[in-house]
Amino acid sequence: MTDRKELLKELEILSNAFGPSGFEEEVIQKIAGLADTLHCENDAMNDLYMTADGKINHDRPVFMLDAHLDECGFMIQSIEDNGLMPFVMLGGWHMSAVPAHSVIIRTSSGRKVRGIITSKPVHFMSAKERADSSLEIEKHYIDVGCSSRQEVIDTYGIMPGDPVMPDVAYSYDEDGDICFGKAFDNRVGCLCILETMRRLQQIGFDKLDVEPVGAFAVQEEVGERGAAVTAVRVKPDFAIVFEGSPADDIYVPKNTAQGSLRKGVQIRHFDRSYISNPRFIQYAMERADEKGIRYQNAVRRGGGTNAGILHNKTDAVPVLVLGVPCRYVHTHYNFCAPEDIEAAVCMAVEVITGLDPAKQAYILGKNILKRD
Ligand SMILES: [Zn+2]
Repeated sequence: MTDRKELLKELEILSNAFGPSGFEEEVIQKIAGLADTLHCENDAMNDLYMTADGKINHDRPVFMLDAHLDECGFMIQSIEDNGLMPFVMLGGWHMSAVPAHSVIIRTSSGRKVRGIITSKPVHFMSAKERADSSLEIEKHYIDVGCSSRQEVIDTYGIMPGDPVMPDVAYSYDEDGDICFGKAFDNRVGCLCILETMRRLQQIGFDKLDVEPVGAFAVQEEVGERGAAVTAVRVKPDFAIVFEGSPADDIYVPKNTAQGSLRKGVQIRHFDRSYISNPRFIQYAMERADEKGIRYQNAVRRGGGTNAGILHNKTDAVPVLVLGVPCRYVHTHYNFCAPEDIEAAVCMAVEVITGLDPAKQAYILGKNILKRD
């Protein structure tokens, strides 16, 4: 088990890593750097596979641990004569969270350049502009402080197609026991895979009735594209999807909130991509009750995760979606609580270690049609 301080240090490394959708290589390098003796291998899209020894043996049912690597970011679309750069979104931003923030552009040579997403200072706004809160991406640009197109190219080497991420440095406040940073959706999930795999390794992979495989998927924020590949490669029999889920506790009454900070791991029953396997959830809740793990149930009105792909791509796969509530996902700055990360990891470890053949058969629905 990794010490709490160490684990939060790892979250810092993962949160700060550059990884908008389609540009996740720095994130997989960081994960591989933290993986010790666990074996890491990537495919051409930069999906990352973490195993005990580099193989998926299928000698036991395969238990896949999924999390997406990518974060919401942007891409430079073009460079105007005045040096301002129109951009497109990578992932689901709302325009109200976009202007007046600093960002990091990464050029093809790997150089990182700080820019500001334009906003018009209030001094220059007409009364009508001040009253109008509608925002269009076409009216905003990324500014790196240059005054001409040539200056942008000559000074920084920025070109159309270069990816952009929020410019935020991770920090942890010990008094409040709270983590601050960007991309908690879903570097928190990546951390959960890493730590779950470590704890299973400590127990002994060969002692388990399933074969655990970590699968870190690219491009979830633009439509679960990486999971379409990892599902086929890993061919899971069971899966857990870890997510840095949107916390709702500051928007709705106590009894309606389903993603509250410090209330434990969130078990997702429903979203637009997946109706959870009720037998799997029942088993997970029993296991959590037995072991004293805190959890909260979530029935989402929107949203979707890689579970939408994993549960029916290669076979009928029971998937458990475990969320760590994170405030303000899909914006620059997030908060999450270490105890919720711990609850998610404990839940995964207990679900996997308890999954004996009888439990597997039950979750797979083998007792539903009784034959004499
Ligand atoms: Zn996510």
